[in-house]
Amino acid sequence: MDRKSVLEVGKVLYHSGLPFRVRLFNILASLGFIISLCNGVLSYWNNGDRKLLLINTGIALLSLSLLFYAYHSKKYQRCYFITIVVIFMFLFPIMFFKSGGYKGGMPSFYIFGILFTIFMLEGWLMFFCVWLELIIYIFTIGIAYYYPDTVIWFQSEKEIVVDVLTGVVVSSASLGVAMYLHFRIYKKQQVFLTQAREEAMEANRAKSTFLANMSHEIRTPINVMLGMNEMILRESESREVVQYAKSVEKAGNYLLSLINNILDITRIESKKLDIIEEKFSLRQLVQEVCLIGAKQAEAKNLEFVVDVEETLPKYLEGDALHIKQVILNLINNAVKYTKKGKVFLKVCQEEKQISFSVKDTGIGIKKEDMEALFDMFMRADIKRHRNIEGSGLGLTIAKELCEQMGGHIQAESIYGKGSNFTVYFPLKDAGTEKIGQWKVVEGEPVQEKRKEFFASEAQILLVDDSEQNIQVITSLLRRTGVQLDTAASGFECIEKVRNKKYHLIFLDYMMPEMDGIETFHRLKKEVNGQSVPVIALTADVSTGIHQHFLSEGFSDYLSKPVMWEKLEELLLQWLPAALVSMKNGAGEDWNITEKQLLDLKQKLKKWDIELSEGLYLLGGSIVQYRKLSELFVEYYEPNRKKLEESFETTRKTQQEIKILTGQIHTLKSNARAIGAMSLYELAASLEIRGKMQDESYIEKAIPLLFFEWERALDGMFFFLENTKKFVLESEKKEKENGKQKVYGELTEEVNQEKLYEETYDRILEAIGKYQGKYAEEQLEKLLPLEKNPKKKEILGQVQKSVQNLEFEQAESLMKGTYWTNKVTTEWEDRNGQK
Ligand code: ADP
Repeated sequence: MDRKSVLEVGKVLYHSGLPFRVRLFNILASLGFIISLCNGVLSYWNNGDRKLLLINTGIALLSLSLLFYAYHSKKYQRCYFITIVVIFMFLFPIMFFKSGGYKGGMPSFYIFGILFTIFMLEGWLMFFCVWLELIIYIFTIGIAYYYPDTVIWFQSEKEIVVDVLTGVVVSSASLGVAMYLHFRIYKKQQVFLTQAREEAMEANRAKSTFLANMSHEIRTPINVMLGMNEMILRESESREVVQYAKSVEKAGNYLLSLINNILDITRIESKKLDIIEEKFSLRQLVQEVCLIGAKQAEAKNLEFVVDVEETLPKYLEGDALHIKQVILNLINNAVKYTKKGKVFLKVCQEEKQISFSVKDTGIGIKKEDMEALFDMFMRADIKRHRNIEGSGLGLTIAKELCEQMGGHIQAESIYGKGSNFTVYFPLKDAGTEKIGQWKVVEGEPVQEKRKEFFASEAQILLVDDSEQNIQVITSLLRRTGVQLDTAASGFECIEKVRNKKYHLIFLDYMMPEMDGIETFHRLKKEVNGQSVPVIALTADVSTGIHQHFLSEGFSDYLSKPVMWEKLEELLLQWLPAALVSMKNGAGEDWNITEKQLLDLKQKLKKWDIELSEGLYLLGGSIVQYRKLSELFVEYYEPNRKKLEESFETTRKTQQEIKILTGQIHTLKSNARAIGAMSLYELAASLEIRGKMQDESYIEKAIPLLFFEWERALDGMFFFLENTKKFVLESEKKEKENGKQKVYGELTEEVNQEKLYEETYDRILEAIGKYQGKYAEEQLEKLLPLEKNPKKKEILGQVQKSVQNLEFEQAESLMKGTYWTNKVTTEWEDRNGQK
């Protein structure tokens, strides 16, 4: 074999990439081959012992063949085992008796044999072989001691010394090589492991950040999607479309819960979950959980049974939000995995812990799946549950949350019969009051009564940098009739609050440059807006966020996607009661026939007013529509004045165009609300042009806008005049029924109209009788009642004529103000309803 081939063999057998055991085996087998050959030759040369030469040659050949067999077959374990049995357990004892017994080098080889076995084998086989070797070796030494004739002892001290030295050198060298290799590989592995650990941690951090960001990013479009879908659900008249929208809602909500779960997991993994301990009402918590649980159970025709121990404390200290999340998770699973039967919720106290058990009569879990139940993404019996939605994260989150609150979770299940999940929380009492008897009704779902209301005078500011979010909330708020201003940044918000008094502000938390919290503090500091309730808008659903906003001073918070119910709840809670009128039906509908309504709709088309559009946004309430049209008329003059002023600034700066665009935007919304479509469309295109700073377009189009505005105003006058009688009728009916006046303001309005008419008649009579002073007095009374700017102007002229004693002119002017009545009369005549 030339040098090159030797190097090749060396590379193949001993290179550092080989596993530790393989490399060690190859080295020791090679050494065994060389040493055995040398040993045999040495003993033959020493004392002419042929047998020892034969044995040693046998060992050498065995080592060599094992080396090649292992290399080709890769059956290393088998080769280690053969080496141990044949060489250590069989040939070593023979050599012991043949070469000086315990007075030679063999005891060193015994030690080597045992250590080699420990290195090469694993588990019970290693223990078994080591014990067997020890027994064999002790046995051979014992025989040698008690039966010295069985041993071929060395004849001289020199022979003993040589053999002992050979044994010590060979075995310690082999062990040294083994230890050296082992530690070298161990050290390398340590370095590699540390590196790998750091890399894995870095990758994990990156994953968490990515997931958190992605989840946040995904929540925003879902917000838009669900919000718009809510609008479709509420406004679509097609049953098919509603059905599609419901599917979108279901899928959207599932997606949302999935994103929330992923967010929770990333938070738990990165230890960013805040557990907030505070006093809470256990009764309220159970009540809330029961309402949701019973509703879910009812949807699947399951019975929901609640059992609450009477002696439980009413108030506890702990993180109610997370406890609720855990229990709802278990209830959700119980309902999900139960086809028929019951879901039980039991709340009791065990030693110092409060336990919540959720038991079901569902499909149960196989014994072999129980162990991995709480593992991330684990879904048991996946083949059978293929059609049940789930991500396998719920129980992981429940377990982690439980443990972070110092509690634990337990699961029991009988496959095919049902499961029982129990969570234990170590919660301190916060008071001596007991929860008391639990009434069944408390847990029953209350038929949700949709509290619809109208708050047309409420001034609300919505601050969000996302145009889409603004669109969603604007659409959701539309039917409440509130007056909504929007701002796209914190700076804009402060500016708006400086110039106008709002009743409520919705402030987005995540905004570039100045975030919601900073804006809020600056608002408080700089602007006199301390008394305005500010509600934080956030897509962040992390627990503790509510607390965070409250501690910052916000009045409340609203999470995105914005749910209509929650938005409505907040408006009802935070708007001054005087601004809100509930739509509870009483006196809501006038005694107006379909035909009358249709005629009204057709008549209004003359001014491009689509009554159906306006009614549509108001849930069909013509009473609310009337209220909106009154506002439209009332605000016409001041709004027009403002717009004219902004328009008349000769050379417009960007900021001025922005202000003008803002005003046009308000006009657009108002026009849309009353269904003044031409005005709406024109305002919409002007707004777009305004945003583009297209001054020349604005210059040319604004006069047309004013024209359309006037037309819409005329249409509104017509509407108001022609619906007066319905208001009066409705009021009369209410009085007859002895009902409470629901629309206080509206009733007052009707009274004012009566007063108006009476005063009007008195003036006309006084003018007819040339009673100037009396006419003037009555005119003073009438003027503040007149909201129509045109009529007001005419009344002003009447006043002047009376002062100048021009009674004829005053009379003709007065009569002229009834122009709208004339139209009504003509219209009624044509429809034969006079
Ligand atoms: P998933 O989103 O799949 O429901 P979970 O982590 O909540 O994820 O649950 C993990 C698995 O445990 C489920 O896929 C289901 O196989 C099993 N499981 C959980 N709760 C129940 C239950 N009440 N009855 C039967 N199986 C359950």
